[in-house]
Amino acid sequence: MKSTFGKTAGYATGYAQCSGCGLCQLVCPAWRTHRDVLFTPHGRAKSMQHGAAVTDLVESLASCTVCGACEAVCPERMPLVALTLKSAKEAGVLIVDAETTPLSDAHLQTLRQQLGADDLYVIAPRAYHRDYERQVLRYAALRRDTGCMTNLDLQRIAIPADTAYQARWILQGRSPQRIIVERASDHAVFTALGNWPVRHVAELLTPGAHA
Ligand code: SF4
Ligand code: SF4
Repeated sequence: MKSTFGKTAGYATGYAQCSGCGLCQLVCPAWRTHRDVLFTPHGRAKSMQHGAAVTDLVESLASCTVCGACEAVCPERMPLVALTLKSAKEAGVLIVDAETTPLSDAHLQTLRQQLGADDLYVIAPRAYHRDYERQVLRYAALRRDTGCMTNLDLQRIAIPADTAYQARWILQGRSPQRIIVERASDHAVFTALGNWPVRHVAELLTPGAHA
């Protein structure tokens, strides 16, 4: 099925197209985390069709990891990622794509209030390594100030969690109470291990969204 990822479309008509088939729910990592249909495009579309405002959906929108899986399976070929990003912008919800854009200083400052020594914070390696000399200092300061664990090896190299093997390697010898990931794909990898609550960093950075 051809994906419409990245397309923009009429906002209201986009949500009106949802037939409620529920296929997006089957693939949505946010649903696997929350076990609530409201945390899926299906739930958001039905809420909108019945008169909800985007501001009623702050938690749901913040849980989206922008993985695009929903869009690939939607039989109505709805531009679900574009709709989610547009709704999030209107609701004042930050959706972070840390794979390409490093977190801002303001984001890191907010995280200082949210992270603790029981958290494993998983940095997106690509954006980190592209700007290594600056990022190593910023994340070292975050780790020092919060006491959180990170996926920095040799104290400074951000290692990826692309597979279950890699994720277990990052977790070796650690017992976090919570895992926070910057990268959407890491959410699925750590969630599949099954033992820890996993949150995307946008959930911690969005006021009103629970972490
Ligand atoms: S893009 Fe968002 S809504 Fe769609 S499957 Fe991924 S997490 Fe779920
Ligand atoms: S897959 Fe598309 S049509 Fe089906 S419930 Fe999800 S958004 Fe609606």
